[in-house]
Amino acid sequence: MINKRRLVKTFKELVRIDSLSLREAQVARYVRRELRKLGIRSVQVGKPRGGDTGNMVSFVSGQGPLLLLNAHLDTVSPGRNIKPREKRGVICSDGTTVLGADNKAGVAAILEVLRTIKEQKLPHPHLQIIFTVAEEIGLVGAKNLSRSVLKAAYGLALDGGQIDKLLNAAPSQINLTATIIGKAAHAGVHPEAGVNAIRVASEAIAAMKIGRIDRETTANIGVIRGGKATNIIPAEVELRGEARSHDRAKLRRQVKAMTDQLRKACRRHGARLRLTTEQMYRSFAVRPDSPIVKLVLTGMKKERLRPQIKPSGGGSDANIFNARGVPTLVIGVGARQLHTTGEELVIRDFIRGTELLLTIIREAAGG
Ligand SMILES: [Zn+2]
Repeated sequence: MINKRRLVKTFKELVRIDSLSLREAQVARYVRRELRKLGIRSVQVGKPRGGDTGNMVSFVSGQGPLLLLNAHLDTVSPGRNIKPREKRGVICSDGTTVLGADNKAGVAAILEVLRTIKEQKLPHPHLQIIFTVAEEIGLVGAKNLSRSVLKAAYGLALDGGQIDKLLNAAPSQINLTATIIGKAAHAGVHPEAGVNAIRVASEAIAAMKIGRIDRETTANIGVIRGGKATNIIPAEVELRGEARSHDRAKLRRQVKAMTDQLRKACRRHGARLRLTTEQMYRSFAVRPDSPIVKLVLTGMKKERLRPQIKPSGGGSDANIFNARGVPTLVIGVGARQLHTTGEELVIRDFIRGTELLLTIIREAAGG
């Protein structure tokens, strides 16, 4: 049904255009041009502060419910000057950058499906296409979309990996930043006059339960920064961490447990603590018997896939769409090892995943 060579070509063109978060203007121009060739207009909405373009929102009139299709335009670092290589049915980078299949495989799949629909005059529901920006730095683009834009009956974010996996739930995430303020002193002359912030931080972290907490909950301290020289008792250390859970009460408890350890260690040593926590996004769970799950399952079965319904460990724009009232699932088009320089795209899965998307769309228009 779809044009496989054109799909792969589009993908390679997309990844060759640099588009780190907040620098998506160039790739947005490419996508806008491709949409215009199909007679599809797009408007720019919710440009993030510091960004060079906004989210691209388009509408394609059809019959039946309004289906949202989403992918994000930005990629993670190292993501400049990506050179896609193709070897034995797999596309990868040259090893110095990510590939950017997250999420340009999703962008290419949506473009190819739109082209196929138009060329072959296939039945489809009303479609809303939202290409977001700055997803990778905290779903910033999607957060800038107002409820008045998000009116679809349901949605699909093409931001997963495996093509037979349907992610119907995702956790909440809270980030925390802690600054421990001790007291500087000469390490050789007056060590007793100092309060060693590194020591305080170490004790707090060592006492924390982090990593996998339970089936639904994870926690991490990912950044530690502080200290100036070996002969100075360090006066300040900054820690950055996060916790995630599918259960919001568990998440609150985990964050409290982590901050309690920081408070205790500070008290023990007479250090001060500056603490900020930020809710990055809220969890969601789309019911297995909801229309969008049924639709995707039907499509997967038609494509002879064995569907797996799974919760996701990470947040995505789907968290925002769900929070704003559009039940949205995450599905994949064959990308693997996301966010690493070993990221790759399995071409066979990429093609099948794109065919699957087309099947789902036709299904949504009444089969
Ligand atoms: Zn992504």
